[in-house]
Amino acid sequence: MTNTPHPLLPNEEERYKPIVSTFICPKCKKHSKIQLRACVNVSLHPEEKDQVLNNEFFQYTCECGEKTPIVYPCLYDDMGKALMIYLLPDKTEDALEKMNAQQDTWSPEMVKAALVCTMRAVRTPNDLCEKIKIFDNDLDDRYVELTKAFVLAQFGKQHPDLRVVQALYDRKDGKDGFVFITDEEKMLFAEIPDGLYDEIIRMFENKIPQKKTSCYELIDIGWAMEVLRPDKEN
Ligand SMILES: [Zn+2]
Repeated sequence: MTNTPHPLLPNEEERYKPIVSTFICPKCKKHSKIQLRACVNVSLHPEEKDQVLNNEFFQYTCECGEKTPIVYPCLYDDMGKALMIYLLPDKTEDALEKMNAQQDTWSPEMVKAALVCTMRAVRTPNDLCEKIKIFDNDLDDRYVELTKAFVLAQFGKQHPDLRVVQALYDRKDGKDGFVFITDEEKMLFAEIPDGLYDEIIRMFENKIPQKKTSCYELIDIGWAMEVLRPDKEN
C-alpha cells in the first residue's frame, strides 16, 4: 500500500492509508490482523492490477487455506490510461452520489485533472475486472454496454430456456464478446458479431452525452437500457 497523496482527493487522505482490520476466519475461527488497501495504483503497483484480475485482491486466504471474499470501497487508479474506477460495493448509487458531491471541496486544478480522466463507479470486483479489460482493449465502455444489450437480447431469443443473471465483457482467442452467467451458474461465451460494435458507435454517438464530466459515472447494463428506452426519443 502506498501513502502517496492522490491529486484528485486531497481531503480524503484517510482513504489512502491502509485500513487495519481484524479478520475472523469462518472455517477455523482464527483471528488475523489484515491490511486493506483502499487504492490500487497501477503505475506504482502493477502486481496489484494482476491480483484484481486474478480475483485475489478482494479475498483473504487464511493459514488454514480458507479463501474469503473481502469487498470494500476501493479506487482503481490507472493514470497511464487516465482511468479511475471506484468500486463502491455497498449501496452503490448512494455512495456514488456522496462521492460526487465531495467535488465541491476540490480545487480547480483537481477538477481539471478529473475532466481529462475517465471516471467510473462499479458495484462488484467482477464489474471492476470487466472495466479494466474493456479499457485495456481500447474499447469505450458505453458502446460496450450498448452492444451487450443487443447481444444479450439475441442470446435470449436463441436460448429462451436460459436465464442470464450476469453478463461480462471479455476477450477470448482474440474475439471480443460477453461471458453470460446463468441462474444455474452455467457460463457461456457469446462473441460480438463482426461490425456490430462499430455500428453501435455510429447509431449512438449523437445520442449519448460526449462531454466529459468530472463525476464518477455508473456505466452498466442499466445505463444502456436507459439509453435504449423507446420513450427516450420523445
Ligand atoms: Zn482459517
